[in-house]
Amino acid sequence: MSVYVFGHKNPDSDSIVGAISISYLKNKIEKEEYIPARQGDISAETEFILNKFGGKLPELKTSVAGERVFLVDSTDKPHFQDDIDEATILGIVDHHKLGDLMTDAPLEAWIRPIGCSNTVVYEMYKCYGIEIPKDIAGMMLMAILSDTVIFKSPTCTKVDTKVVKELAEIAGVKNYKELAMEMFVVKSGVDGATARDLNTRDYKEFDMNGNKVGIGQLEMVDISVLEPRENELFEDMKKMKEERNLHTILILLTDIMKEGSKLLVISDDENKIETAFDVKLDNHKTWLEGVLSRKKQVVPFVQPQFK
Ligand code: MG
Ligand code: MG
Ligand code: MG
Repeated sequence: MSVYVFGHKNPDSDSIVGAISISYLKNKIEKEEYIPARQGDISAETEFILNKFGGKLPELKTSVAGERVFLVDSTDKPHFQDDIDEATILGIVDHHKLGDLMTDAPLEAWIRPIGCSNTVVYEMYKCYGIEIPKDIAGMMLMAILSDTVIFKSPTCTKVDTKVVKELAEIAGVKNYKELAMEMFVVKSGVDGATARDLNTRDYKEFDMNGNKVGIGQLEMVDISVLEPRENELFEDMKKMKEERNLHTILILLTDIMKEGSKLLVISDDENKIETAFDVKLDNHKTWLEGVLSRKKQVVPFVQPQFK
């Protein structure tokens, strides 16, 4: 019976590339067939990476009951299909906080507090002595540069920068920073996108002590292009809050050049958010200097407010 490898809903490049890189490795070392999969449409950024290195789009998988699965880039139940509890989780590769998924049987787990799941995957290849094919190395390289925001994110470690150099070598990419900037320009595209497209482009929900908190993030080379659309974003955030029964919805407009995020807040209790970041909101928004990472600089401060 095949094993499906996939990452979180609203797949980012780390999730898609992780499905590909883990499946290739597993198919080298295990008897059963590992199949790269995804839980939703890919982003323009991921499309850029797949096109650049000739990667194949993983299979869409929206139900996993009865399947054997291997997860990458999250262990939070809300980030998977509702029937994830009916699947058998064989393993996980991740770089986030430990989530609430449980297993009935022993599993393989590779979790490290570093910049990218694909950095962990690189270490798995090393561990098993398997050579990384050129195209997969290129895709892993871009996934790490995306997740670490070209090394600027506080989640980035020396391991990530070292692995990027080694992957660039294998992939034959000379100026990887230039290629990464090209990727972030693609990622920053907002033309033709509705407010809902923008709010959900990189959106995750968290269960914080029984409260649903949605946190979206737009990583852009210049967030000022969204200034004329902020009211529209707020209106849609209010709708999302109703539709999804959220306590709070946060949208981070992350400016990767200015290295900070504008935080937009719609909440039943804005005080919680003001306390979390030690700020006063002005018209439901504020600037968070130096904040680039949702997992390291946002979730760990918001979550304790719900304890
Ligand atoms: Mg991710
Ligand atoms: Mg990741
Ligand atoms: Mg990210």
